[in-house]
Amino acid sequence: MRFDLITLFPELIDAAMQLGVVGRARKRAQILSTCHNPRDFAYDAYRTVDERPFGGGPGMVMQIAPIKAAIAAARAADPRPVSVLYLSPQGRTFTQAHARTLARRERLILICGRYEGLDERLLQNCVDEELSIGDYVLSGGELAALVVIDAVTRLLPGVLNTSASADQDSFENGLLDCPHYTRPEQAAEGEVPSVLLSGDHQAIARWRRTQSLGRTWLRRPDLLARVQLSKQDRDLLSAFQRQHMGSRFGSD
Ligand code: SAM
Repeated sequence: MRFDLITLFPELIDAAMQLGVVGRARKRAQILSTCHNPRDFAYDAYRTVDERPFGGGPGMVMQIAPIKAAIAAARAADPRPVSVLYLSPQGRTFTQAHARTLARRERLILICGRYEGLDERLLQNCVDEELSIGDYVLSGGELAALVVIDAVTRLLPGVLNTSASADQDSFENGLLDCPHYTRPEQAAEGEVPSVLLSGDHQAIARWRRTQSLGRTWLRRPDLLARVQLSKQDRDLLSAFQRQHMGSRFGSD
């Protein structure tokens, strides 16, 4: 999969793209990323890309021409069809389901805004989709673009070492993930639930499912309301609820 980023801060993107799962995917050529700096497409000696807003007011607005030229350069870099995404607090909120959808595309162009954002006419004519990573305002779209790249890359075939690990993550089946424990078995911070040491795979699976259902009930009842639960799930959740009555509405 190929990511073309339009950014005034390619160093920020390049540094983050060296590390972790994304860095490994890049080294293995499972993903390719290229930055296009709008300043390289500015017409004046100062490489200006922003201007004061019409109508007055604070802040600067990113101009049409340099961004449009950067998008054209990104499009021309690869003949495959491409979607142009603008990271924006006003976009649709990015979710795991959306990450799965994007992971099926071959190419993405991600526009990282700065200042007050892009001239509105760019949004109307050159952008396919606006994506927000949450209801807060960042000073630039680079971190948001990196969030999207990370979430999408780890879903690409062969990127994670075990294909199962993404399937078990939070949100994949509409629920939060269960708690995880590792060595040492005994620690001052507490004990490992005995079922995880039992070797009984069915009991472990049942415990994990119960924890996943219960955590979602405690922390994200909005998610739980959208999931179709089987009879067995409802029974597991009832057992959890009986044990934890008070946590959701009490001290939690
Ligand atoms: N004036 C804009 C508004 O209120 O809608 C905010 C501009 S913000 C200071 C600068 C850039 O950061 C935006 O153009 C966008 O690319 C990026 N950005 C800020 N918050 C974001 C969010 N929650 N999700 C995605 N991108 C965001």
